[in-house]
Amino acid sequence: VMSKQYETVIGLEVHIELATKTKIFCGCSTEFGSAPNTHTCPVCTGMPGSLPVLNKKVVEYAIRTGLATHCNITRMNKFDRKNYFYPDLPKAYQISQLYLPICTEGYVELTGGKKIRIKEIHMEEDAGKLLHDATPDGTLADYNRCGVPLLEIVSEPDMRTADEVIAYLEKLRMIVQYLGASDCKLQEGSMRADVNLSVREVGSETFGTRTEMKNLNSFKAIAHAIEGERQRQIELLEEGKEV
Ligand code: ADP
Ligand code: MG
Ligand code: ZN
Repeated sequence: VMSKQYETVIGLEVHIELATKTKIFCGCSTEFGSAPNTHTCPVCTGMPGSLPVLNKKVVEYAIRTGLATHCNITRMNKFDRKNYFYPDLPKAYQISQLYLPICTEGYVELTGGKKIRIKEIHMEEDAGKLLHDATPDGTLADYNRCGVPLLEIVSEPDMRTADEVIAYLEKLRMIVQYLGASDCKLQEGSMRADVNLSVREVGSETFGTRTEMKNLNSFKAIAHAIEGERQRQIELLEEGKEV
């Protein structure tokens, strides 16, 4: 029997693929569903000596999204390298914005008036796609998606239920689609959410330890993941264990 009452605390990192014709740092097409490795060049496959040139349209879409979500727009922008070695990333680093994101401190207002604060929005590039089931001999790599522009929209941990999370995502999708910045198709991966979740006793002022569930691509999967992870964390706490 559970005696304590628990509150769920959720913050989202939402990735949106921008509707530009070309990639963020080269002239390759961003078209979805083309034959593997037909939209690649020395820049987006990280060949030595190639240099990135920023796509102006990416900056425009980022600023539009920031203005529509009541953010401050950062005038002095800078990109940073996030290093990781994995076969979906031939450069072994992702170009992202760590220290000076283009948008900061905004919010999205849900129907009913609750505001979900946005911590920041930054510009970055997508990685390639690994196909693990296409052949029994191993894994295939498709680099067409390498360098496709993304906005990462990071919320504050202001959501408390799966319904609020879905309401926030629907509102965000509506805003971004209206701006023409992305089609936000969850099933094609042009909108993806990482769900950060913790639980705490009702009345507690401090947050619990969070876990992060990455790349969820349907509202149903998100609702399912939230319910399962909430239960898992509560059970751990009830047993006196740590998340
Ligand atoms: P990281 O790079 O480690 O994922 P970020 O700052 O990009 O860190 O994202 C952190 C996300 O986790 C934000 O969306 C934030 O709202 C959320 N978050 C932070 N603390 C908590 C917590 N205690 N419970 C739930 N979500 C949290
Ligand atoms: Mg994260
Ligand atoms: Zn390219």
